[in-house]
Order: sequence, then C-alpha cells, then structure tokens
Amino acid sequence: MKIHEYQARELLRSSGIPVPSGVVITGVDQAAAAFRGATEGMVSPLAVVKAQVHAGGRGKAGFVKLVRSAEEAEDAARFMLTNRMHSPQTPPEGLEVTRLLVARAADIADRAGGGKEEFYLAVTTDRATRRNVLIASREGGVEIERIAEERPEAIHKEVLHPLAGLLPFRAREAAFALGLTGKRATQAADIMVRLAKLYVELDCTLAEINPLVVTPPSAEFAEGQVLAIDAKFNFDDNGLFRQKAVSSLHDAGEENPSEARAQRFGLSYVALDGNIGCLVNGAGLAMATMDIVKLHGGEPANFLDVGGSATEEAVTEAFSIILSDDRVKGVLVNIFGGIMKCDVIAQGIINAATKHKNHDGSAGFKVPLVVRLEGTNVDQGRRLLESAKGSLPTLSAATDLADAASKVCAAVA
Ligand code: GDP
Ligand code: MN
Repeated sequence: MKIHEYQARELLRSSGIPVPSGVVITGVDQAAAAFRGATEGMVSPLAVVKAQVHAGGRGKAGFVKLVRSAEEAEDAARFMLTNRMHSPQTPPEGLEVTRLLVARAADIADRAGGGKEEFYLAVTTDRATRRNVLIASREGGVEIERIAEERPEAIHKEVLHPLAGLLPFRAREAAFALGLTGKRATQAADIMVRLAKLYVELDCTLAEINPLVVTPPSAEFAEGQVLAIDAKFNFDDNGLFRQKAVSSLHDAGEENPSEARAQRFGLSYVALDGNIGCLVNGAGLAMATMDIVKLHGGEPANFLDVGGSATEEAVTEAFSIILSDDRVKGVLVNIFGGIMKCDVIAQGIINAATKHKNHDGSAGFKVPLVVRLEGTNVDQGRRLLESAKGSLPTLSAATDLADAASKVCAAVA
C-alpha cells in the first residue's frame, strides 16, 4: 500500500523528524489562503505547491512549483488541477490530480562546488542479505535508480541490526559519508535513526526522504537545519491487519479500479499494456503464461491469478475484469486442474463465458477465447469445450501451452 506525500510528512513529523508545515487543498479558490498560511512570518514569502498523487517525478513534470505570491499559488494550483500529470512513473494516460499540498518552502543551502544541499535517504529491505538497510546518498532530488546504475559508489549503505535497528554510531557514519559535519551531522543521524524506527514499527517496505535538505544558517540554526521536504512510504500489505492507523490512510481513488475490484474477489490482478487477456490459476503458471505469450510475439494485457481453486464465480468475475479493458483483443485461459478437476473447470469457463455481459448489454464472448486445460479429467474437460462451440463461436481449445500461445497471438495479430 502507498500513501500520499502529505500523509507521509505527517508520519515523519509525529516521529520527530523536522518537516516544513503545509495544508492540503482541493480547489483553486483555497490556494491564496493556503499560501498566506504557509508563508506566515516569512520576510520574503516562498511556498511550494505539490500535486498529491501516488507517483514520483513530479518536479520534472511541472507538478511541484515554488511560488512567491498568492497569485502564483493560484496559477500553479489551476495548472495542476486541470492537467493530468505525466511522468515516467505514471500510466501512459497520466494521472488526474485532485489534491495539492501547499507547504512552506525550505531555503536550500548552496553546496560548495556547485548544486544544492539535497540528499537521498531511505530504509528498505535488502533481499540478498535479508537485512533492513539504510541507503544514503549526496545525490538527492534525482532518481536513485539512475545513481545506483551509473555511480554505485555514490550510494552509502548501513545495515540495520535485526533487533536494535539502526545503531546511532552507524547513523553518524552515514551522516559523515554524506559529507555532513558538526550539528548538521547530529541532526541527520537523528533523522536516520527515527526513519529506521518508523520503517520497522509501521511494517514498511520503503521509507524514503528525497530530498533531505540543509538550509542556510539562520538565527535559530547557526549551522543550518536538516529538513525532510519530500517523503514516500510503501507498506507491506500483509502487515496492514495490525497497522490500523496506516490502513486508515488508504486512498481508494488512487488505485487502478480493476485491480481494486479484483482484490475484493480474491483475485491477484495487475493491469499491463498489451492486448491479450490472461486468466490463469497459480502465480507461477501466470508468470510462465506471460512469458510464453511474449515468446510467441504477443503482449499480455494483464497478470491474473484466479487462485488454486478457480471457481465459476471467480472465473466469471475475472472475465468481466479482463474484458472491461477495451484494449483486450483476445483471451487466453490457462488452467491446471489439480485441486479442481478439468471437467468442472471447463463447465465453469463455459458458463462464465456464456453469461459474460458486454458493454452494449449483450451476453456471450465477442473476442477470441483460447482455452488450455491440463490435469485430472482433462479429456472430459476438452470434450465439454468441444461441445460448447455452438454457444461460444469464438472458443478454441488448445492442446498444450505452446499451441495456446500461438493460437491466441495469431487471433489478435
Ligand atoms: P518529486 O519530483 O515528485 O520527487 O518531488 P519533490 O518534492 O522531491 O520536489 C522536486 C524538487 O523540487 C526537489 O528536489 C527540490 O529541488 C525542489 N523543491 C521541492 N520543495 C522545495 C522547497 O521547499 N524549497 C526549494 N528550494 N525547493 C524545493
Ligand atoms: Mn522527491
């Protein structure tokens, strides 16, 4: 599960990590008041307007804007609320923005040798070592994946102790590795320890601050202050049952509607970009099916695991979810009858496909439907499919996986 930046900032703040204050708005008419509130007491008022969507790369997309007046805040809000956001992390059609954060802007210190004092900080789980790790880099603000690829030496890692978490001396080492000294190093190390604690306590899979910044010296902070100005948290869905406060932050509006619907019916569904709908039982078989579709030159429209038992209800729902995507030009059903026998499954597929309701209200399958069954009672299953051709003219039965893949790829070509 993901949450919005403004919610993530709240989590940081409540754990004692300094974050500039801000308010969330949903309309252009609220922007001026939000600007005045955020910049209260500033000699030269500066705020930042930020789109609240579950995708990064907002800065480059023009959806994070520094504004110096109420009018500029309104212009930025109008732009963000009336345009869809496109970044490398959004779906091709972009994302609608309905909420904006208007926050007091941080003044970021210049870095000796050029650039700004922006750092990257994250805690995540390193699967290779089976340990939680703190990742820190001087190259903040940009995508960490690119730095990891191009300049891996610019990334500093500290392994968390399985019981004690991030030990303070380790955090200090990380702060020194970022080139911080004095009070700034102390502040940064303190933030790291708190972030690591949050990561474990909230069952996160990612707790990220990008960028963490240092402000220029001020009356209050003679050496500058270390602040988090962007935050991102991902949570382990399997831990949500015991994370009531985190679960309550869930925003259903940010989910792919088909994925949310599939979840309600116990189906694992992930939308993809291709035109071949896949309905498979078992995650491993679903992966193999997508591979073999690709191998035959096709593009899967989705990953869909209906689960080991593949009941008629699950298949009916799955068909309806797959076909709600207009890009789908053919459907491949690949089911292994282990727990359920193939004849039962075949009858389920036939019933579900015959009952399927199209957009125009008509019933039955319009697109090619290729079915590959294997397992117990497979011969009875195939005979049932064979005899159903009268009511399902687009149905064809495949003899094996390769046959199924080539048939469905040919059908959509
Ligand atoms: P992202 O692009 O979605 O990761 O959004 P960020 O919140 O990280 O903002 C992108 C960039 O905008 C940051 O790396 C900063 O350079 C700049 N930025 C964001 N907030 C502020 C702020 O409060 N003050 C200043 N000076 N720059 C900011
Ligand atoms: Mn960022």
